[in-house]
Amino acid sequence: MTLKCQPNASHFINGAYVEDTAGKPIDCFYPATGEKVAQLYSATPAIIDAALSAAQAAQKQWAKTAPVERGRVLRRAADIIRARNQELSVLETYDTGKPLQETLYVDATSAADALEYFGGLIASVTGEHIPLGDNWAYTKRIPLGVCVGIGAWNYPTQISCWKGAPALACGNSMVFKPSEMTPLCALKIAEIFIEAGAPAGLYNVVQGYGDVGGALVSDPRVDKVSLTGSAETGKKVYAAAAANMKHATMELGGKSPLIIFDDADVENAIGGALLANMYSTGQVCSNGTRVFVQKGIKEAFLKRLSERTEAIKVGDPMDEETQFGPMVSKGQRDIVMSYVAKGIDEGARLVTGGHVIEGEGYFIQPTIFADVTDTMTIAREEIFGPVMSVFEFETEEEVIARANDTELGLAAGVFTNDFTRAHRVIDALDAGTCYINSYNDAPVEAPFGGVKGSGIGRENSKAAIEHYSQLKTVYVGMGSVDSPY
Ligand code: NDP
Repeated sequence: MTLKCQPNASHFINGAYVEDTAGKPIDCFYPATGEKVAQLYSATPAIIDAALSAAQAAQKQWAKTAPVERGRVLRRAADIIRARNQELSVLETYDTGKPLQETLYVDATSAADALEYFGGLIASVTGEHIPLGDNWAYTKRIPLGVCVGIGAWNYPTQISCWKGAPALACGNSMVFKPSEMTPLCALKIAEIFIEAGAPAGLYNVVQGYGDVGGALVSDPRVDKVSLTGSAETGKKVYAAAAANMKHATMELGGKSPLIIFDDADVENAIGGALLANMYSTGQVCSNGTRVFVQKGIKEAFLKRLSERTEAIKVGDPMDEETQFGPMVSKGQRDIVMSYVAKGIDEGARLVTGGHVIEGEGYFIQPTIFADVTDTMTIAREEIFGPVMSVFEFETEEEVIARANDTELGLAAGVFTNDFTRAHRVIDALDAGTCYINSYNDAPVEAPFGGVKGSGIGRENSKAAIEHYSQLKTVYVGMGSVDSPY
């Protein structure tokens, strides 16, 4: 029987699909039904070797290609992705379970945005001329070499291009390893690069579990590692990269605060809090999962919040009316449910949700806790599911201290109509990506990334160019050498 989403083979190396069934099996399930949709295999050492060799060979030639031509290839890939948005969005939904209502608008389209942005930008990235009297120096932005991208499972298409687009634009090649839970989408991106005119070997995809990621990171042919994953994995991958002095970008988890002052537009703030917790069934790194609401409006806020939460349309992700799909896997559903149980045990008030939705898929209800205190487990650990914790606060000073009381610092948000307070509070929050009267936008034009334990480096925007290239300085002597010897 042919499985619904079966690709030609597990890996895409040197411009073609490659299989090696000696690798550990990777079974792909559609999270909404539990149906098996593809059978893949983890990369063997031979596959890893082939991918890195292909990437190394392709990079040398690609680095010599004029930036405007590199950009043209990326922009062609963006056009192909946009033309196939429907097909790619359906695949993203099979891979992750996220509803089409989301995937049609934020996955392939955001991948295309990244390719278009970096494809357009790269030809204008130039060095500096530095006058030194009679002599002078100049700088060049040169590629790093072979980049490894390792992805989390929540945004497989987007992550493959948020890493691939700046890497390729800067003259690097890439070996991308998706999460084994969502291995399908990046293969399509690799095919599209070839169709867009990229040389074979420039963008390769290998499947695998953490051990494959580990093997890639420690290989001497690799010059840069970019991980999107948990803070715990980030520490391991960063340490492995550091051991061989490789460049690294770490996009890690968060436990971000969203602060709602009593002068805020409450309907807007609730919309923001729901986007910050329920989008992608709560599986978003930048989610504002600690929602601090000022005392005066808390009960009114909770009442409307639970009404709007209970109205969320949960169901078949392929129905465009559906707003909320399943968790990515049974395992992740169980982890989230264990946090719900801890919330109840430790005394938080369950306002709505909190149950598994019985059936074949990995569905749970959108869940809200109130009366959460700062020391509870659900207040301290990243849950990565649709579980919002609401806290009460009284003063600005108090809420800033409580919001910053975490080792993580990916994102933060403030809802208020007092604009001086908005900027003052954002200024005081330890976070890399902040929102005022909004939440979870991630346009390619603006840098995205965290501080503290949430990582290092930035994705998107001009800032990403610095993380996928390095400077070469050339000193030019115009006269005789002034040597004392
Ligand atoms: P994990 O950290 O478990 O895995 C991330 C990736 O790293 C996977 O491909 C994983 O492979 C791989 N990996 C695991 N161990 C190693 C290792 N020792 N060496 C190299 N690679 C390894 O994260 P999840 O996939 O569970 O994703 C959820 C996490 O990602 C959350 O913490 C979330 O906040 C974060 N995230 C951060 C984002 C950001 O931009 N800041 C965006 C999206 C998610 P395998 O899956 O096979 O174990």
